[in-house]
Amino acid sequence: MPCFSSGPPNTGTSEYEAWLTDTRRMLDSFTHVVDYYYRKAGMEMPEPASPDDAHGPPDGGGAQATPGLDPDENARVLQQVLLHLDCDDVNVFHLNEIRHLLRQDRAARWRGYLHVLNHCFRALRNGFRDRPTTGTMWVECGNPALMLDHLRGKVSGRKLRLFAVACCRRVQHLLVDERSQDAVEVAERFAEGTAAVGDLEAAAKRMRKVGKLRGYYGPVAAWAVVPSAEDAARYAAWNAFVDRDDEISVQADLLRCIFPNPFRTVPADSRWLTSTVLCLARGIYEDRAFDRMPILGDALEDAGCADVDVLAHCRRAGPHALGCWVVDLVLGLN
Ligand SMILES: [Zn+2]
Repeated sequence: MPCFSSGPPNTGTSEYEAWLTDTRRMLDSFTHVVDYYYRKAGMEMPEPASPDDAHGPPDGGGAQATPGLDPDENARVLQQVLLHLDCDDVNVFHLNEIRHLLRQDRAARWRGYLHVLNHCFRALRNGFRDRPTTGTMWVECGNPALMLDHLRGKVSGRKLRLFAVACCRRVQHLLVDERSQDAVEVAERFAEGTAAVGDLEAAAKRMRKVGKLRGYYGPVAAWAVVPSAEDAARYAAWNAFVDRDDEISVQADLLRCIFPNPFRTVPADSRWLTSTVLCLARGIYEDRAFDRMPILGDALEDAGCADVDVLAHCRRAGPHALGCWVVDLVLGLN
């Protein structure tokens, strides 16, 4: 199988004919699987309005823009397609060959398949087999992209954007342009409901100029203010690092701060919400004073909380960020 970037052989050659026969066969089984799961779910496969939507935005943006489409249902179907392809040992190389063939036809129906294919391609490329599927894997996972894959469609835009903000804050010292710093602030206020869509758009517009001027680090903040919170989380994280290997483990910890373990039930007990607990949580939230988390842990324990996840999270060394799931749990935020 050729390398991804090589593309099909020259047309008119016997190699091309052989490639076409093989790839058409793979395309047939791919469309068969996709059709099967959409039909089973009683859904129409989304057909992106323009060829650009089939290539990006990442992981479902084009499909989510389809009127009347339930993004949760669509995510479930995509997951089933992906599991099926994975069981059939379809890999990114196979998908890439099919992609070359699909790109030759720009009809809406093929754009729909291309869209599904791109989703599957990214998932497989990102190490789909290593995605967390248990509580323990979630705790141990060091790949924010896989964790975000798992959270897709299940969590609030607020928390996703706060994760993007937390990633940007990690490289705050490199965001030398005032507009970049402002974009991060606006993203945070938007997540918290104190900035409007218009503010987010205005910040994004300013960032388009910064991206050109500032080379690498401008786009980090630009991702925080894109319309889709999913994209903000994924791409701010992807771009915000000095040393990628070091940063992804910190980002994985930040995700575990903002999102509770999705494989365990989030505890909630109104008896824990004593005036001391509420006052402490509010203070931490308003002052961003996460060094007080162990004190909150003690107050929760005094109030009768014995949940190991809650107490361990309060007492862990960090990092914590705005949107921390324990603080949110106490304050009733999502
Ligand atoms: Zn936390």
